[in-house]
Amino acid sequence: MSAEASLQESFQMAGKEFGYSAVKAEYTPFKEFKIKWQRSAGWAEFQVSDYLMDADKEVIQGLAHSLFVRITKGRRDPYPETMKDWMTSSDFVRQKQPVYVRRSRNLTRSPMGRNRNLLDSVSRLERQGMVEKDEEMFISWTKERNLRRVGYCSVLMKVIAISSVFDDPEVPEYVLDYVVYHEMLHLKNGLDPDSPKHGPEFRAQEREFPRWQEAEAWLRKIALDW
Ligand SMILES: [Zn+2]
Repeated sequence: MSAEASLQESFQMAGKEFGYSAVKAEYTPFKEFKIKWQRSAGWAEFQVSDYLMDADKEVIQGLAHSLFVRITKGRRDPYPETMKDWMTSSDFVRQKQPVYVRRSRNLTRSPMGRNRNLLDSVSRLERQGMVEKDEEMFISWTKERNLRRVGYCSVLMKVIAISSVFDDPEVPEYVLDYVVYHEMLHLKNGLDPDSPKHGPEFRAQEREFPRWQEAEAWLRKIALDW
């Protein structure tokens, strides 16, 4: 059975349990992982991130069930553990990261900039004991000189993007390192939808960076929303 047919079958079966007779589900190549749906009485349609295409049938069945709980009972049923296990596995990152990078059109897809190599930042942070090596991490410059989102991390895909505004000798190296450190902290903390992204714990970790105050002052000058 094809992945599409299997998806459709799993969602139809789960739908039946909840009184939905017309159910459609299809894989969609969203850039970010997401699931969208529309529904009315007895009818529901789902667009499921195609990053789940290779997931076991059990994962898809669990997902379908949790989504029907969500739409019928209005409560946020947690995604099944089997799905979390699959999505945080090395196999998942190895298979899906290249797809994600291909879909990220604002990435140069390289850590080598005109003036700076992001891997040098990572090495400096490692040497200082600020971060640990993560072989699965992919780090790249952005093509555009983003001023609003100066750094970005997909924890799921283990991809970090750094604005090319820092690929500039005028910006001190430690400011770049601080931004890289910030994004690598997100990676280290992992997927945790229940705790705020930039909560007090995160801020405390950030302040372990030796020159965080100076770096912050710089960022307030360069970045629009810092
Ligand atoms: Zn952040």
